[in-house]
Amino acid sequence: MIYFDNNATTPILAEVRDAMLPFFETEYGNPNSVHQVGNRARVAIERARNQMAGALGVNTGEIIFTGCGTEANNQAILGALLARRGRGKNVVISAIEHPAVREAARWACDLVNAELRIVPVAYAAGAIRLEPFTQAIDANTVLVSVMYANNETGTILPVQAIFRAAKTVGAWCHSDCVQAFGKLPLKPRRFGADMITLSAHKFHGPKGVGALYLKRGIKIDALLHGGGQESGRRGGTENVALIAAMGKAAELVGTGNSDHSRAIRDYFEARLAERMPDQAQINFRDLPRLPNTSSVQFPGQDGNLLLIKLDQKGLCLSTGAACSSGSLSASKPLLAMGLSEEQATATLRFSFSRLNTKAEVDNALTMLETVLKPQSVAASSRS
Ligand code: PLP
Repeated sequence: MIYFDNNATTPILAEVRDAMLPFFETEYGNPNSVHQVGNRARVAIERARNQMAGALGVNTGEIIFTGCGTEANNQAILGALLARRGRGKNVVISAIEHPAVREAARWACDLVNAELRIVPVAYAAGAIRLEPFTQAIDANTVLVSVMYANNETGTILPVQAIFRAAKTVGAWCHSDCVQAFGKLPLKPRRFGADMITLSAHKFHGPKGVGALYLKRGIKIDALLHGGGQESGRRGGTENVALIAAMGKAAELVGTGNSDHSRAIRDYFEARLAERMPDQAQINFRDLPRLPNTSSVQFPGQDGNLLLIKLDQKGLCLSTGAACSSGSLSASKPLLAMGLSEEQATATLRFSFSRLNTKAEVDNALTMLETVLKPQSVAASSRS
């Protein structure tokens, strides 16, 4: 089996698995208990918080652990809007946000009676255009939420410049960095974010644990009220095992050194161009992209059908965001970035990790060739 679907989720590294196992066995303490068993669990959480803060170059008090990236996005957006509620406000997001931002923003804006402004992602001369964002931001903008890198296309957005514009009107700035962390060097202070979202399973940690970086001084409303955990910012007994694993994963991959996956991705694209020059086309190649992601169009093909055939051969890919795979509608971010319905449905996403190899790329391309030419192979074998 060849796994090129690392933007959907990544395999857990052995060191990361080892970091969480004790908490399913001997270290079962509740981190809020005062005795020694509880204290060891508390120490593990604070170690993980240190690891996260170290990877991001922020203070430990600025990290809140959550149940997933989706929760962190909901917490950031609704928490900020509740804290800044009032009529006549607006929220600015990009048209290619993950549903965990888009739907959270829709819901939160409805709840507090704010206007949601969804900004088209236009590009020219190899760069995403800034003006649609600067035009959408005005004196009533309370929150700007723009992802650093898109999960489907790998496109990197100019968050630093967008946030600079947002700051001039006093808006708070949130970035969904779920796909960027571990793939790009990520220092939220450098690009002016007040909040960023992370999810462990995208960087070789387990599913079901995320984190929100919340800049000191930014006071958002908590969504989960209870026993005062996470300094009153997220109630609920902490998931010690998963948090410990997230910290370990951040320590291992948090520098964002993607030399290996970049080399694999570049090898894939070069070999694809050699072996299938007329059958495949790389989307958004001229734009800044994540080093591990290749969005590839196979003109005239049905991406969902290709996906199924390749899966039968042992190659795991995605047609879009993992949560929307299986639905037959074209991917929203692909359409929002100017692809036609036909082009979007003919697109497959290849996303690599530090664990992939060039041999896997060669094998995957052979599978692809076979799947793309079923009739001619069948016909020639019959004649
Ligand atoms: N944001 C982006 C960009 C993602 O790719 C994902 C996962 O697909 C999420 C948020 C949601 O993260 P989680 O799966 O931890 O809820």
